[in-house]
Amino acid sequence: MFHCYGYAATSSDTPLAPFSFERRNPGPKDVQIEILYCGVCHSDLHRVRNEWGGTIYPCVPGHEMVGRVTAVGAKVTKYKVGDVAGVGVMVDSCRECANCRDGLEQFCDNGNTETYNSYDKHTGGHTLGGYSSHIVVDEHFVLRIPEGLDLAAVAPLLCAGITTYSPLRRWKVGPGQKVGIVGLGGLGHMGVKIAKALGAHVVLFTTSSSKTEDAERLGAAEVVLSTDGKAMAQQANSFDFILDTVSARHDVAAYLELLRRDGTLTQVGVPVEPQPIHAGTLVAKRRNYAGSAIGGIAETQEMLDFCAKHNIVSDVELISIDQVNEAFERMLRSDVKYRFVIDMKTLKARQ
Ligand SMILES: [Zn+2]
Ligand SMILES: [Zn+2]
Repeated sequence: MFHCYGYAATSSDTPLAPFSFERRNPGPKDVQIEILYCGVCHSDLHRVRNEWGGTIYPCVPGHEMVGRVTAVGAKVTKYKVGDVAGVGVMVDSCRECANCRDGLEQFCDNGNTETYNSYDKHTGGHTLGGYSSHIVVDEHFVLRIPEGLDLAAVAPLLCAGITTYSPLRRWKVGPGQKVGIVGLGGLGHMGVKIAKALGAHVVLFTTSSSKTEDAERLGAAEVVLSTDGKAMAQQANSFDFILDTVSARHDVAAYLELLRRDGTLTQVGVPVEPQPIHAGTLVAKRRNYAGSAIGGIAETQEMLDFCAKHNIVSDVELISIDQVNEAFERMLRSDVKYRFVIDMKTLKARQ
């Protein structure tokens, strides 16, 4: 074991605070990474505050990491000391079930090991995430970061990037298609950029007219205020695909009405409450209603390579680790364009 430090919450109602802990020394297939940047995902906040239930304390959140390889096990073949590497939402899975064999580790039938708040089969404790100095991960779950991208702005691709890329690819978004992105936050702003790079005509739906200019800058061809009934009605029956990134309560049925025949609406945001949908809305135009969760490891690598080719990164605001509690509050007010990223150098400075 070796010594690490980070920020942890010790209960649902205490702020994140400095925390020391041990991680396993790299095993034969493990990569040890010194973390340079870690994105602040909305799910970090949900988890820290136990809003989904089941949070194990102390909780070190963070699943959007970019860092430098500082050690590798004897059987590691893909990484060497000094490489820039990334870690996302998963650090392990069974690798034997049908989904793992298909490269869809996020749907592992035996439960994948999430980067934090999962059972850690190496220690018998629970996994601890990226708001920390180092992490040790099996090389299969480590991502190669292409050269030439701003590393701080790459970090959010490991969750927000793949969460939007995977469904856009799965439903074959491309040139000649009209694609809607619902919500312009951490996920939505990546959805706009990636859908645009795939060649689609992108329409952003937002409740806030102040986001129009930004959405156009990010690549939206049209911006529709979802509170404007007339503007929404004008979009009826016209979309090939809609990616819904909103996790607050909202009227999903209103968006289903905008799909053309055989169109698909996929949710990546997860509202707490069930949402009523009349089957007639689907039946009338043979519409599809679907969901999607992050992406497999191979697809996450494909996403990073795609983003490098198209020069896509997240729009980020870099913060020091001691600003993270304030960043949570600002995230709740949607006061961030569009992802906070922690500069982990500031963690070391405090030790
Ligand atoms: Zn996330
Ligand atoms: Zn599996």
